[in-house]
Amino acid sequence: MNYNIALLKGDGIGPEIVDSAVRVLEVVGKKYGHTFNFTPYDIGGISIDNNGVPLTQETIDGCLKADSVLLGAVGGPKWDTLPGNMRPEKALLGIRSAMNLFTNLRPAKLYPALKGECPLREDIVAQGFDIMIVRELTGGIYFGERGTRQGKYGEEAYDTECYSRMEIERIARVAFETARKRNKRLVSIDKANVLDTSRLWRKIVHEMASEYPDVECTDMLVDNAAMQLVRNPAQFDVIVTSNMFGDILSDEASQITGSIGMLPSASLNETTRGLYEPIHGSAPDIAGQNKANPIATILSAGMMLLYSFGLSEEYNNIVTAVDKVLEAGYRTADLSHGAPYLSTTEITDKIIENI
Ligand code: NAD
Repeated sequence: MNYNIALLKGDGIGPEIVDSAVRVLEVVGKKYGHTFNFTPYDIGGISIDNNGVPLTQETIDGCLKADSVLLGAVGGPKWDTLPGNMRPEKALLGIRSAMNLFTNLRPAKLYPALKGECPLREDIVAQGFDIMIVRELTGGIYFGERGTRQGKYGEEAYDTECYSRMEIERIARVAFETARKRNKRLVSIDKANVLDTSRLWRKIVHEMASEYPDVECTDMLVDNAAMQLVRNPAQFDVIVTSNMFGDILSDEASQITGSIGMLPSASLNETTRGLYEPIHGSAPDIAGQNKANPIATILSAGMMLLYSFGLSEEYNNIVTAVDKVLEAGYRTADLSHGAPYLSTTEITDKIIENI
C-alpha cells in the first residue's frame, strides 16, 4: 500500500526525533511492502521564522490532504516573548482544531526493562502498570473564551472552560470502546465537587455507562487522581478526562514510566486520519546534540500504523523491537544516569536492527 504522511518536524529536538521515526517507517515499509511518502511542512517556531506565523494555511491544507500526520515538537526560548496568539504552541491548538482531533490517546506503561527508572517505591513498581489515558483535545479551557481586562484591582486575565454534551459524549464513547478492548475498567476524572463542566461531564458519563454494562466505570476527582497515579498506578486501565486535566495527568504518568522521552500519543478524529506525536516538548536544552530519546516518536509512528492504517503486525514489530533494545540494556541519555549511553541515531540503528 501507498501512504502519504505529512511531516511536521517543528523545533528543538523535533527534526532529530522525526528523522529517527522516518528511518524506522522506511525499514518497516521495505519489510512489509508499503510505500510511505513523506511531505514536510513548517510548524511552530520554524514557521514563524519562515512565514511570520506559527501555522500557515499551506501546512493545514497539507495535513488535511495527507493520510496521516507525524509531528515532532514546537517551541523554544527564541519565541518565548512573542504574544500568546503568535507563539509556536498556538500552532498545536490550530492544527488539532483544523483536523478536528478531539481524541488524544496517551498510553503510559512501565516497560519491565525500565523498572529501575521508575521513581516509585519497589512494591508499587513490582506490580507494574499499563494505562491508556483518553484526553479530550479540542474543547475545554484551552479553547474557551479568554482575555485580559481592567478589573476592580487593576489588570486581570481570565480563561473559561466550556464543554457541550456532544463533546463529552463523543470522547466518552471513545473511552468506553477503548476500555472494552482492554481490561474493561474505565475511570472518568473530573472536578465535579467544584466545576459545573465536570458535573455535566459526570452526568453524561453515568448515562452512557448503561450502554456499556461490560465496562466497570467509576469517577475520581482530579486531585485524588494525581495522588492515586503515584500511590497505586496499577489500579488504572483506561482513564478519560478533559483537555487540561489530561495534559497534566499524562505528564505525571510519563514520569513514572521512567522518562518523558518514552511516551507516544495519537490524536484522532472520526476519520482514519490522525496526528501522531510524542507527548514531550522540543527539549531546547538538548536540541541539536543527537542526545534526544527518539522512542516516543518512533512509538507514535507505530501508533499511526495501527490506528490510521490498520497495520497491526507492523505496529507490533516496532513495539517488540523497542522492547528488545531496552531489554538488551541500551539506553539514551535521559535513561542512563551518567552511564555511557547511545545517541539518537545509534538507538534508532539498534531498533532498526530488531525490525
Ligand atoms: P520538554 O518536554 O521539552 O522538556 C522537559 C525536560 O525533558 C527537559 O529536560 C528535556 O531535555 C527532557 N526531554 C523531553 N523530551 C526528551 C526526549 N525525547 N529525550 C530526552 N529528554 C527529553 O518541556 P519544556 O522544557 O517544558 O518545554 C520546552 C519547549 O517545548 C517549550 O517551548 C514548550 O512550550 C514546548 N512544548 C511543546 C510541546 C509540543 O510540541 N507538543 C509539548 C510540551 C512543551
